[in-house]
Amino acid sequence: MATHHSFHMHKDILEKDIKYLAGVGPKRAELLNKELNIKTFGDMLWYFPYKHVDRTRFYRISQITGELPYIQLEGVIKRVDLAGAGRNRRLTAIISDGTGNLELVWFRGLRWIGDLVKPGKKFLVYGKPSIFNNKVNLVHPEMEDPDKQEKIINSSLQAFYNTSEKLKNSFITSRVINKIQNRLLGIVAGKIDETLPEEFIKKLNLEGINEALLNIHFPGSPEKLRKAEYRLKFEELFYLQLNILRQKTGRNQKVKGFVFTRVGDLLNNFYHKYLPFELTSAQKRVLKEIRKDTGSGKQMNRLLQGDVGSGKTLVAIMTMLIAIDNGYQACLMAPTEILAAQHFKTVTEMLDGLPVTTGLLTGSTRKKDRDVLHRQLEAGEMNILIGTHALIEESVQFSSLGLVIIDEQHRFGVAQRARMWKKTMDPPHMLVMTATPIPRTLAMTVYGDLEVSVIDELPPGRKPVVTAHYYDNQRERLCGFMRSQIGLGRQIYVVYPLIKDSEKMDYKDLEDGYESISRAFPPPAYVVAIVHGRMKQENKETGMQQFITGRAHILVATTVIEVGVDVPNASVMVIESAERFGLSQLHQLRGRVGRGADQSYCILMTSYKLSNEARQRIKTMTTTNDGFEIAEADLKLRGPGDMEGTMQSGFPFELKISHLGRDSQILEYAREKAIDILERDPLLENPANRILNRQLRKLNPQLENWSKIS
Ligand code: ADP
Ligand code: MG
Repeated sequence: MATHHSFHMHKDILEKDIKYLAGVGPKRAELLNKELNIKTFGDMLWYFPYKHVDRTRFYRISQITGELPYIQLEGVIKRVDLAGAGRNRRLTAIISDGTGNLELVWFRGLRWIGDLVKPGKKFLVYGKPSIFNNKVNLVHPEMEDPDKQEKIINSSLQAFYNTSEKLKNSFITSRVINKIQNRLLGIVAGKIDETLPEEFIKKLNLEGINEALLNIHFPGSPEKLRKAEYRLKFEELFYLQLNILRQKTGRNQKVKGFVFTRVGDLLNNFYHKYLPFELTSAQKRVLKEIRKDTGSGKQMNRLLQGDVGSGKTLVAIMTMLIAIDNGYQACLMAPTEILAAQHFKTVTEMLDGLPVTTGLLTGSTRKKDRDVLHRQLEAGEMNILIGTHALIEESVQFSSLGLVIIDEQHRFGVAQRARMWKKTMDPPHMLVMTATPIPRTLAMTVYGDLEVSVIDELPPGRKPVVTAHYYDNQRERLCGFMRSQIGLGRQIYVVYPLIKDSEKMDYKDLEDGYESISRAFPPPAYVVAIVHGRMKQENKETGMQQFITGRAHILVATTVIEVGVDVPNASVMVIESAERFGLSQLHQLRGRVGRGADQSYCILMTSYKLSNEARQRIKTMTTTNDGFEIAEADLKLRGPGDMEGTMQSGFPFELKISHLGRDSQILEYAREKAIDILERDPLLENPANRILNRQLRKLNPQLENWSKIS
């Protein structure tokens, strides 16, 4: 977040080109700009370290082991050797401190290092120990002449900065950035304009911006570091929330929503006469929240989160009935044709007997039928339209669209959401449903402009899916298990990964897999169906139908079946090469089973070779069924930028210091404060809040645009 430019008196200082800083110069400045996007003094100050190491601790060589993190030591060079040729050419030096000898190794910049490191010279050495040939060494350590040390701001904790290969090759190491910060702070310390209101700083007991910047780069103590981090994280998350919430406030003031006042016959009839089961209390609560929104006179913008199988579709149906009861049309948009068709089937079956007309519109709807649909919609004869992206086409016009429901949000971009608005003069109420549980902190940020409802309860009688991890060589056992399940009358999914970069190989794996399954489960006793993206639509549908109707015992598929498909009789999900799937995808796939009353199973097949992260993912899957717990684990493991679904829905900013997974408390607090302020001063006109407006204007312009379209 670019909250760092101060335009008051010292504008010239923070805005100054980094090349003018002593020791940087044009060449290094260009590299810093290219590699780290650092252009100005301000950019550099807001380039935060990723960790700090206790500088007061010096290691003796005799104490050093290969497991230690970054260490520092002091010693004298004994010997220097140049060895190897070509790519193996390397420079080694032996350093001694009286307690032992340690080898230092360089593979690049040999001439420069050779000039610097000479026998008899004393050095401060910084590096991460590693083990080679059973011996501890330091590869590419940083060397410093203890007598020529620059006077560093008094600090017991050494900051470490991320650099790139290119920067390191040009000797812009973490240490060098540290020295640059040292010089920079020497010039600007104490002169930086405050970036939060004074009153705020006092009330929330925050550190001033000058102390915070000094202490983040050169902490006087762990306590001071903690305070600096807190202040900077708070500020970053606060402005993020203030920005998102301000967009929402603005929208609520500008936009009027349709008012659904009536609880009409349709909803009453459905609830009392048609509903085949009791609503869960979570479903009831969410419906109440929706009724409150749609009756408020404001436009509803609500995100409905619920684990797979939690009964979101039912909530969607009842919300649509409320709209129709109040004289409006509703539409339900799904990400794939299969899903749209399935929704259409569910909705027409559930509403069978009620005076509601429902249509299905997808890319493969025939022109003739399409024309009829268009006419019915415009004449107001069609109450519910279900479909895919085809719904957003210009030619689709409603007579009185009052509600739009989007299923499985992560497949739709924010921009598509916005397009649904333009269909009517006044924007319809929006309900976005997602089965990809999003940690609260991420939801508050990515969907910060939406209200959030959660169905955190599964319909009664569901048994949690039992998840097991098998290695490839346990296939015999797997087949035996599959046979016994089919013997019990159950059906089985076998899913293969399909990833763009390895598509060819993946299809080969899928086809090989299909062949060997067909051999292990031969006709006529067994029917094996296959569905994947390269098949013709009609063949896809046939395969799917075979499985849905129960004719096929096994469905071999790619992830097309990932979302929404509902076959309650399927009780086993086999995921091939499970190590190649992300956590949320694995969870989605597992959600395809466990929908009926039978005990269900998810089998994760992997090879023996697993990365640490993959092992962690598999372990998470075998230990929990809770989608939110899994999403939190994913967020902690990888950070928001990598979360599945996040990129598609647009995570447009880079956080410089906060981590949505780890700083959730600060985020909640910052959001609370932002809400407080906007409640009292929605347009930030109060003189005391002028500084907020100024800082917001300086936010990444990308961020501004992004929130406008949502
Ligand atoms: P989601 O869309 O959240 O994945 P669905 O709406 O498809 O879940 O519901 C999954 C299954 O549970 C469906 O077969 C549905 O009929 C059933 N179901 C939904 N709500 C209830 C309930 N309150 N009690 C029993 N079964 C329910
Ligand atoms: Mg669903």
